[in-house]
Amino acid sequence: MVPEVASRHHVEVITTCINEALAEANITAKELSAVAVTEGPGLVGALLVGIAAAKAFAWANQLPIIPVNHMAGHLWAARQVKPLEFPLMSLLVSGGHTELVYVKAPGDYKIIGETRDDAVGEAYDKVGRVMKLTYPAGREIDELAHQGQDVFAFPRAMMKHDDPDFEFSFSGLKSAFINTVHNAEQKGETLDKKDLSASFQAAVLDVLLAKTKKALAQFPVNMLVVAGGVAANKGLRDRLAVELLDVDVVIPPLRLCGDNAGMIAYASVCEYNQQHFADLDLNARPSLSFDQLA
Ligand code: ATP
Ligand code: FE
Repeated sequence: MVPEVASRHHVEVITTCINEALAEANITAKELSAVAVTEGPGLVGALLVGIAAAKAFAWANQLPIIPVNHMAGHLWAARQVKPLEFPLMSLLVSGGHTELVYVKAPGDYKIIGETRDDAVGEAYDKVGRVMKLTYPAGREIDELAHQGQDVFAFPRAMMKHDDPDFEFSFSGLKSAFINTVHNAEQKGETLDKKDLSASFQAAVLDVLLAKTKKALAQFPVNMLVVAGGVAANKGLRDRLAVELLDVDVVIPPLRLCGDNAGMIAYASVCEYNQQHFADLDLNARPSLSFDQLA
């Protein structure tokens, strides 16, 4: 991703995108109650384009502006399935984040653990590059994994007795994967992508499942929400369905797992009800975290 190219592309399409969304929803600007916009985290250039467009649209139509955290958006995509019940635990797994978030009430988020290095989605994309798959590689690895066997015994990090309960690390797994492929290449061997994918995915899912179970044991909640781009993973969905029988597991529908505008609208509803609006001096917050919202 080239940040400059990404934001330029945003400038080119944003007006068309807004007009098409209104036309498709068969709604006019006058019928809207507010404009919700992502303030962060994300690439600053892309965020600024969205914020500038939201401000202009809101000002022209005399609507209030609601700033939304992108990760809260991922979480609230689950609202499409059913009303969220609090307190809830959330496993957020995406291209830039891997975190367990305890949500006491709407808007009250506490990160109880996160990754120390790579995010899960990032690890998928990086090992995908080593296997010469197209970016983003998560979905293809997921498909390959279902046709292979866990034969490579890749490391499961942060799982020792004295390791922090809810922290993650995926860079060691990524390095182990890359070394395995390179060592084979040096011997003139080619490893089976299906087995590599199955072994990588098993290592990732073992850790995600174990940490989530531990979090649920420690924090009594009404619901587990699993969201973010990696929540589209079939292996993860299957294991959650089999291994977490005691808790109501809610996962957004596939089309709302990756980035989308609907999730930002859902996340803005509780802010709207509390009349939490931003002024026209709203700015991008590229490294916004849940911990900063309080
Ligand atoms: P963030 O939300 O942390 O800012 P992002 O918005 O770039 O990052 P998302 O759009 O939420 O990330 O998710 C994209 C990621 O999801 C990519 O890394 C992609 O490989 C991964 N992904 C998509 N589908 C699957 C799948 N089926 N299995 C595993 N990973 C997947
Ligand atoms: Fe995202």
